[in-house]
Amino acid sequence: MRKVLVLTEAKAGNLRSVSLETLTAAHLIAEGGEIVAVAIGSEATHYANVLGKHGANKIYIIDNKDLDVYTTDAFSQALRQVIDAVEPDAILMPHTAIGKDLAPRIAARYGLGLVSDVIDVKVENDDVIFTRPIYSGKAFEKKKVVSGIPFATIRPNNIPVEEIIGTIEIVHFNVVIKNLRTIIKEVVRKTTGDVDLSEAKVVISGGRGVKSAEGFKPLQELADILDGAVGASRGACDAEYCDYSLQIGQTGKVVTPDLYIACGISGAIQHLAGMSNAKIVVAINKDPEAPIFQVADYGIVGDLFEVVPLLTEEFKKVLSNA
Ligand code: FAD
Repeated sequence: MRKVLVLTEAKAGNLRSVSLETLTAAHLIAEGGEIVAVAIGSEATHYANVLGKHGANKIYIIDNKDLDVYTTDAFSQALRQVIDAVEPDAILMPHTAIGKDLAPRIAARYGLGLVSDVIDVKVENDDVIFTRPIYSGKAFEKKKVVSGIPFATIRPNNIPVEEIIGTIEIVHFNVVIKNLRTIIKEVVRKTTGDVDLSEAKVVISGGRGVKSAEGFKPLQELADILDGAVGASRGACDAEYCDYSLQIGQTGKVVTPDLYIACGISGAIQHLAGMSNAKIVVAINKDPEAPIFQVADYGIVGDLFEVVPLLTEEFKKVLSNA
Protein backbone atom coordinates (compact mmCIF):
# COMPACT_ATOMS: atom_id res chain seq x y z
CA MET A 1 0.00 0.00 0.00
CA ARG A 2 1.26 3.45 -0.88
CA LYS A 3 0.27 6.92 0.27
CA VAL A 4 0.16 8.93 -2.97
CA LEU A 5 0.21 12.72 -3.09
CA VAL A 6 -1.47 14.30 -6.14
CA LEU A 7 -1.23 17.94 -7.09
CA THR A 8 -4.51 18.94 -8.78
CA GLU A 9 -5.03 21.91 -11.04
CA ALA A 10 -7.93 24.17 -11.88
CA LYS A 11 -8.26 26.82 -14.55
CA ALA A 12 -10.58 29.80 -14.05
CA GLY A 13 -12.13 27.96 -11.09
CA ASN A 14 -12.82 24.78 -13.06
CA LEU A 15 -11.00 21.57 -12.25
CA ARG A 16 -8.86 20.45 -15.19
CA SER A 17 -9.71 16.94 -16.34
CA VAL A 18 -6.05 15.93 -16.19
CA SER A 19 -6.38 16.32 -12.41
CA LEU A 20 -8.89 13.45 -12.38
CA GLU A 21 -6.71 11.41 -14.73
CA THR A 22 -3.79 11.94 -12.33
CA LEU A 23 -5.99 10.81 -9.42
CA THR A 24 -6.87 7.64 -11.36
CA ALA A 25 -3.15 7.05 -11.95
CA ALA A 26 -2.63 7.48 -8.21
CA HIS A 27 -5.34 4.90 -7.53
CA LEU A 28 -3.56 2.44 -9.84
CA ILE A 29 -0.34 2.65 -7.81
CA ALA A 30 -1.77 3.23 -4.31
CA GLU A 31 -2.89 -0.42 -4.03
CA GLY A 32 -5.43 0.45 -1.38
CA GLY A 33 -3.28 3.13 0.24
CA GLU A 34 -4.35 6.70 0.95
CA ILE A 35 -4.60 9.27 -1.84
CA VAL A 36 -3.99 12.84 -0.76
CA ALA A 37 -5.05 15.53 -3.25
CA VAL A 38 -3.68 19.05 -3.00
CA ALA A 39 -6.03 21.76 -4.27
CA ILE A 40 -4.78 25.33 -4.39
CA GLY A 41 -6.95 28.45 -4.44
CA SER A 42 -10.04 29.94 -2.84
CA GLU A 43 -12.35 28.08 -5.25
CA ALA A 44 -10.95 24.66 -4.32
CA THR A 45 -13.76 24.02 -1.82
CA HIS A 46 -16.22 24.09 -4.76
CA TYR A 47 -14.67 21.09 -6.49
CA ALA A 48 -13.36 19.16 -3.47
CA ASN A 49 -16.33 16.75 -3.71
CA VAL A 50 -15.41 15.96 -7.34
CA LEU A 51 -11.91 15.00 -6.18
CA GLY A 52 -13.54 12.83 -3.53
CA LYS A 53 -15.56 11.00 -6.21
CA HIS A 54 -12.38 10.19 -8.10
CA GLY A 55 -10.31 8.53 -5.44
CA ALA A 56 -9.02 11.31 -3.17
CA ASN A 57 -9.31 10.26 0.48
CA LYS A 58 -7.88 13.43 1.93
CA ILE A 59 -7.96 16.86 0.28
CA TYR A 60 -5.51 19.50 1.38
CA ILE A 61 -7.00 22.87 0.46
CA ILE A 62 -4.49 25.69 0.43
CA ASP A 63 -5.88 29.19 0.18
CA ASN A 64 -3.18 31.83 0.22
CA LYS A 65 -3.08 35.08 -1.74
CA ASP A 66 0.52 34.43 -2.82
CA LEU A 67 -0.80 31.37 -4.69
CA ASP A 68 -3.57 33.15 -6.61
CA VAL A 69 -1.32 33.26 -9.66
CA TYR A 70 1.26 30.57 -10.37
CA THR A 71 4.90 31.28 -9.65
CA THR A 72 7.49 28.54 -9.32
CA ASP A 73 8.78 30.09 -6.15
CA ALA A 74 5.48 30.30 -4.24
CA PHE A 75 4.04 26.98 -5.43
CA SER A 76 7.21 25.04 -4.68
CA GLN A 77 7.32 26.52 -1.16
CA ALA A 78 3.68 25.53 -0.59
CA LEU A 79 4.03 22.06 -2.03
CA ARG A 80 7.16 21.34 -0.03
CA GLN A 81 5.28 22.15 3.17
CA VAL A 82 2.54 19.69 2.18
CA ILE A 83 5.07 17.00 1.25
CA ASP A 84 6.82 17.42 4.59
CA ALA A 85 3.49 17.13 6.43
CA VAL A 86 2.11 14.19 4.42
CA GLU A 87 5.34 12.23 3.88
CA PRO A 88 3.99 10.47 0.76
CA ASP A 89 5.30 7.23 -0.76
CA ALA A 90 4.75 8.57 -4.29
CA ILE A 91 3.99 11.94 -5.92
CA LEU A 92 2.04 12.59 -9.14
CA MET A 93 1.33 15.85 -10.94
CA PRO A 94 -0.38 16.71 -14.24
CA HIS A 95 2.04 17.20 -17.15
CA THR A 96 0.84 20.74 -17.75
CA ALA A 97 2.76 24.01 -17.96
CA ILE A 98 2.65 24.13 -14.13
CA GLY A 99 3.58 20.47 -13.62
CA LYS A 100 6.44 20.69 -16.12
CA ASP A 101 7.83 23.70 -14.30
CA LEU A 102 7.22 22.63 -10.72
CA ALA A 103 8.08 18.93 -10.74
CA PRO A 104 11.81 19.27 -11.57
CA ARG A 105 12.16 21.91 -8.83
CA ILE A 106 10.55 19.61 -6.26
CA ALA A 107 12.55 16.60 -7.51
CA ALA A 108 15.81 18.54 -7.17
CA ARG A 109 14.93 19.76 -3.66
CA TYR A 110 14.27 16.24 -2.40
CA GLY A 111 16.85 14.44 -4.54
CA LEU A 112 14.13 12.39 -6.25
CA GLY A 113 14.18 10.80 -9.67
CA LEU A 114 11.40 12.23 -11.87
CA VAL A 115 9.67 10.54 -14.80
CA SER A 116 7.93 13.15 -16.92
CA ASP A 117 5.16 12.95 -19.53
CA VAL A 118 3.85 9.57 -18.39
CA ILE A 119 1.01 7.90 -20.31
CA ASP A 120 0.57 4.72 -18.25
CA VAL A 121 1.33 3.48 -14.74
CA LYS A 122 1.32 0.07 -13.15
CA VAL A 123 2.84 -1.87 -10.30
CA GLU A 124 5.06 -4.84 -11.18
CA ASN A 125 6.77 -6.88 -8.47
CA ASP A 126 6.09 -4.08 -6.01
CA ASP A 127 7.83 -1.51 -8.26
CA VAL A 128 5.91 1.41 -9.73
CA ILE A 129 6.51 1.33 -13.49
CA PHE A 130 5.86 4.43 -15.58
CA THR A 131 5.49 4.31 -19.38
CA ARG A 132 6.41 7.38 -21.42
CA PRO A 133 6.82 8.05 -25.15
CA ILE A 134 10.30 8.66 -26.61
CA TYR A 135 11.63 9.65 -30.05
CA SER A 136 8.66 11.94 -30.63
CA GLY A 137 6.15 9.19 -29.85
CA LYS A 138 7.73 6.53 -32.10
CA ALA A 139 8.64 4.25 -29.18
CA PHE A 140 7.77 3.85 -25.52
CA GLU A 141 10.03 3.27 -22.55
CA LYS A 142 9.21 1.89 -19.12
CA LYS A 143 10.89 3.54 -16.18
CA LYS A 144 11.04 3.21 -12.44
CA VAL A 145 12.44 5.70 -10.00
CA VAL A 146 15.46 4.32 -8.16
CA SER A 147 16.38 7.52 -6.33
CA GLY A 148 13.78 8.22 -3.65
CA ILE A 149 10.02 7.72 -4.00
CA PRO A 150 8.20 7.31 -7.36
CA PHE A 151 7.55 10.76 -8.82
CA ALA A 152 5.96 11.46 -12.21
CA THR A 153 3.99 13.93 -14.29
CA ILE A 154 0.95 12.52 -16.15
CA ARG A 155 0.24 13.52 -19.77
CA PRO A 156 -3.36 14.74 -20.32
CA ASN A 157 -5.90 12.56 -22.18
CA ASN A 158 -4.19 9.20 -21.68
CA ILE A 159 -5.40 7.59 -18.48
CA PRO A 160 -9.17 6.95 -18.54
CA VAL A 161 -10.83 8.59 -15.53
CA GLU A 162 -12.47 6.23 -13.05
CA GLU A 163 -15.09 7.04 -10.43
CA ILE A 164 -13.75 5.78 -7.12
CA ILE A 165 -15.89 6.77 -4.17
CA GLY A 166 -14.57 6.35 -0.67
CA THR A 167 -14.38 8.43 2.48
CA ILE A 168 -13.03 11.95 2.21
CA GLU A 169 -11.53 14.27 4.74
CA ILE A 170 -10.91 17.94 4.00
CA VAL A 171 -7.93 19.64 5.57
CA HIS A 172 -7.52 23.42 5.33
CA PHE A 173 -3.76 23.62 5.26
CA ASN A 174 -1.96 26.86 6.02
CA VAL A 175 1.34 27.53 4.34
CA VAL A 176 3.95 30.22 4.94
CA ILE A 177 5.25 31.82 1.75
CA LYS A 178 8.23 34.09 2.15
CA ASN A 179 11.10 35.78 0.33
CA LEU A 180 9.38 35.61 -3.04
CA ARG A 181 11.73 36.52 -5.86
CA THR A 182 8.97 36.81 -8.45
CA ILE A 183 5.92 39.02 -8.15
CA ILE A 184 3.27 38.77 -10.88
CA LYS A 185 1.76 42.21 -11.36
CA GLU A 186 -0.66 41.46 -14.17
CA VAL A 187 -1.72 38.48 -16.24
CA VAL A 188 -2.69 39.24 -19.82
CA ARG A 189 -4.53 36.29 -21.30
CA LYS A 190 -4.56 35.59 -25.01
CA THR A 191 -8.03 35.10 -26.41
CA THR A 192 -7.99 31.63 -27.87
CA GLY A 193 -11.09 29.41 -27.98
CA ASP A 194 -13.02 28.30 -24.91
CA VAL A 195 -11.67 24.73 -24.99
CA ASP A 196 -8.19 24.11 -23.62
CA LEU A 197 -6.07 22.82 -26.53
CA SER A 198 -3.93 20.41 -24.50
CA GLU A 199 -7.03 18.73 -22.99
CA ALA A 200 -9.40 18.95 -25.97
CA LYS A 201 -11.07 15.74 -27.15
CA VAL A 202 -11.28 17.18 -30.67
CA VAL A 203 -8.57 19.31 -32.30
CA ILE A 204 -8.96 20.99 -35.69
CA SER A 205 -5.52 22.05 -36.80
CA GLY A 206 -4.48 24.38 -39.60
CA GLY A 207 -1.22 24.62 -41.49
CA ARG A 208 0.31 26.88 -44.08
CA GLY A 209 -2.40 25.63 -46.46
CA VAL A 210 -4.91 27.75 -44.51
CA LYS A 211 -3.19 30.72 -46.15
CA SER A 212 -4.26 33.54 -43.79
CA ALA A 213 -5.62 34.40 -40.34
CA GLU A 214 -9.03 34.68 -42.01
CA GLY A 215 -8.58 31.14 -43.32
CA PHE A 216 -8.73 29.82 -39.75
CA LYS A 217 -12.39 30.91 -39.39
CA PRO A 218 -13.91 27.78 -41.01
CA LEU A 219 -11.65 25.66 -38.77
CA GLN A 220 -12.94 27.51 -35.68
CA GLU A 221 -16.53 26.95 -36.85
CA LEU A 222 -15.90 23.21 -37.18
CA ALA A 223 -14.19 23.17 -33.77
CA ASP A 224 -17.16 24.98 -32.19
CA ILE A 225 -19.63 22.43 -33.57
CA LEU A 226 -17.56 19.56 -32.18
CA ASP A 227 -16.77 21.24 -28.86
CA GLY A 228 -13.12 21.15 -29.86
CA ALA A 229 -10.10 23.45 -29.98
CA VAL A 230 -8.14 24.91 -32.87
CA GLY A 231 -4.44 24.09 -33.20
CA ALA A 232 -1.82 24.88 -35.80
CA SER A 233 1.43 23.83 -37.39
CA ARG A 234 4.52 25.90 -36.91
CA GLY A 235 4.27 26.78 -40.59
CA ALA A 236 0.98 28.57 -39.87
CA CYS A 237 2.38 30.26 -36.75
CA ASP A 238 5.56 31.40 -38.56
CA ALA A 239 3.40 32.85 -41.32
CA GLU A 240 1.54 34.84 -38.60
CA TYR A 241 -1.81 33.27 -39.42
CA CYS A 242 -2.26 32.46 -35.73
CA ASP A 243 -0.62 32.72 -32.35
CA TYR A 244 2.26 30.46 -31.28
CA SER A 245 0.15 29.31 -28.32
CA LEU A 246 -1.70 27.14 -30.88
CA GLN A 247 1.44 25.42 -32.18
CA ILE A 248 1.41 21.65 -31.98
CA GLY A 249 4.56 19.60 -32.34
CA GLN A 250 8.07 19.03 -31.13
CA THR A 251 8.50 22.65 -30.09
CA GLY A 252 4.82 23.27 -29.39
CA LYS A 253 2.08 21.48 -27.49
CA VAL A 254 1.58 17.73 -27.39
CA VAL A 255 -2.06 16.79 -27.85
CA THR A 256 -3.77 13.41 -27.59
CA PRO A 257 -7.39 14.04 -28.60
CA ASP A 258 -9.90 11.43 -29.68
CA LEU A 259 -10.10 13.17 -33.07
CA TYR A 260 -7.43 15.28 -34.80
CA ILE A 261 -8.29 16.91 -38.12
CA ALA A 262 -5.20 18.27 -39.91
CA CYS A 263 -6.14 20.85 -42.55
CA GLY A 264 -3.48 21.98 -45.02
CA ILE A 265 -0.65 20.50 -42.96
CA SER A 266 2.07 18.58 -44.83
CA GLY A 267 2.96 16.27 -41.91
CA ALA A 268 6.59 17.17 -41.08
CA ILE A 269 8.14 14.91 -38.43
CA GLN A 270 8.27 17.83 -35.99
CA HIS A 271 4.51 18.29 -36.32
CA LEU A 272 3.79 14.57 -35.95
CA ALA A 273 5.68 14.64 -32.64
CA GLY A 274 2.81 16.62 -31.17
CA MET A 275 -0.21 14.75 -32.50
CA SER A 276 0.61 11.23 -33.69
CA ASN A 277 -0.85 9.70 -30.52
CA ALA A 278 -4.30 11.09 -31.31
CA LYS A 279 -6.81 8.25 -31.40
CA ILE A 280 -8.15 9.10 -34.87
CA VAL A 281 -6.33 11.34 -37.36
CA VAL A 282 -8.11 12.83 -40.35
CA ALA A 283 -6.01 14.67 -42.94
CA ILE A 284 -7.32 17.13 -45.51
CA ASN A 285 -4.71 18.08 -48.10
CA LYS A 286 -4.64 19.00 -51.79
CA ASP A 287 -1.49 16.95 -52.33
CA PRO A 288 -2.15 13.19 -52.36
CA GLU A 289 1.58 12.60 -51.67
CA ALA A 290 1.60 14.72 -48.47
CA PRO A 291 3.32 12.73 -45.67
CA ILE A 292 0.41 13.47 -43.28
CA PHE A 293 -1.60 10.79 -45.13
CA GLN A 294 0.87 8.15 -43.87
CA VAL A 295 -0.25 8.71 -40.27
CA ALA A 296 -3.90 9.48 -41.06
CA ASP A 297 -6.69 7.00 -40.36
CA TYR A 298 -8.85 8.84 -42.88
CA GLY A 299 -7.51 11.01 -45.71
CA ILE A 300 -9.41 13.52 -47.82
CA VAL A 301 -7.58 14.74 -50.92
CA GLY A 302 -9.10 18.12 -51.63
CA ASP A 303 -9.21 21.83 -51.01
CA LEU A 304 -9.72 22.48 -47.29
CA PHE A 305 -11.82 25.55 -48.06
CA GLU A 306 -14.36 23.26 -49.75
CA VAL A 307 -14.03 20.24 -47.45
CA VAL A 308 -14.09 21.92 -44.01
CA PRO A 309 -17.41 23.82 -44.52
CA LEU A 310 -18.97 20.60 -45.90
CA LEU A 311 -17.84 18.71 -42.79
CA THR A 312 -19.23 21.45 -40.57
CA GLU A 313 -22.62 21.26 -42.30
CA GLU A 314 -22.71 17.47 -42.07
CA PHE A 315 -21.72 17.44 -38.38
CA LYS A 316 -24.41 20.08 -37.71
CA LYS A 317 -27.04 17.82 -39.30
CA VAL A 318 -25.87 14.68 -37.53
CA LEU A 319 -25.57 16.36 -34.13
CA SER A 320 -28.94 18.09 -34.39
CA ASN A 321 -30.56 14.65 -34.95
CA ALA A 322 -28.66 13.05 -32.07
P1 FAD B 1 3.85 23.12 -45.31
O1 FAD B 1 4.89 22.09 -45.13
O2 FAD B 1 4.14 24.27 -46.21
O3 FAD B 1 2.53 22.37 -45.81
C1 FAD B 1 1.37 23.01 -46.24
C2 FAD B 1 0.45 21.93 -46.78
O4 FAD B 1 -0.80 22.52 -47.11
C3 FAD B 1 0.95 21.25 -48.04
O5 FAD B 1 1.01 19.85 -47.82
C4 FAD B 1 -0.07 21.62 -49.11
O6 FAD B 1 -0.29 20.55 -50.03
C5 FAD B 1 -1.29 21.87 -48.27
N1 FAD B 1 -2.27 22.80 -48.86
C6 FAD B 1 -2.05 24.02 -49.43
N2 FAD B 1 -3.20 24.58 -49.77
C7 FAD B 1 -4.19 23.73 -49.43
C8 FAD B 1 -5.59 23.77 -49.53
N3 FAD B 1 -6.26 24.83 -50.05
N4 FAD B 1 -6.31 22.69 -49.10
C9 FAD B 1 -5.69 21.60 -48.59
N5 FAD B 1 -4.35 21.52 -48.46
C10 FAD B 1 -3.59 22.58 -48.88
N6 FAD B 1 6.43 22.23 -37.11
C11 FAD B 1 5.32 22.04 -36.37
O7 FAD B 1 4.21 21.97 -36.91
N7 FAD B 1 5.41 21.96 -35.00
C12 FAD B 1 6.58 22.03 -34.34
O8 FAD B 1 6.60 21.97 -33.11
C13 FAD B 1 7.78 22.20 -35.11
N8 FAD B 1 8.99 22.25 -34.49
C14 FAD B 1 10.11 22.33 -35.27
C15 FAD B 1 11.36 22.29 -34.65
C16 FAD B 1 12.50 22.34 -35.43
C17 FAD B 1 13.84 22.27 -34.75
C18 FAD B 1 12.39 22.47 -36.82
C19 FAD B 1 13.63 22.53 -37.68
C20 FAD B 1 11.18 22.54 -37.44
C21 FAD B 1 10.01 22.48 -36.69
N9 FAD B 1 8.75 22.53 -37.27
C22 FAD B 1 7.64 22.33 -36.51
C23 FAD B 1 8.57 22.89 -38.70
C24 FAD B 1 8.31 21.69 -39.59
O9 FAD B 1 9.53 21.14 -40.01
C25 FAD B 1 7.52 22.15 -40.85
O10 FAD B 1 8.23 23.17 -41.50
C26 FAD B 1 6.11 22.65 -40.53
O11 FAD B 1 5.42 21.72 -39.74
C27 FAD B 1 5.36 22.83 -41.85
O12 FAD B 1 4.11 23.39 -41.60
P2 FAD B 1 2.90 23.11 -42.60
O13 FAD B 1 2.69 21.65 -42.72
O14 FAD B 1 1.77 23.95 -42.14
O15 FAD B 1 3.42 23.77 -43.95
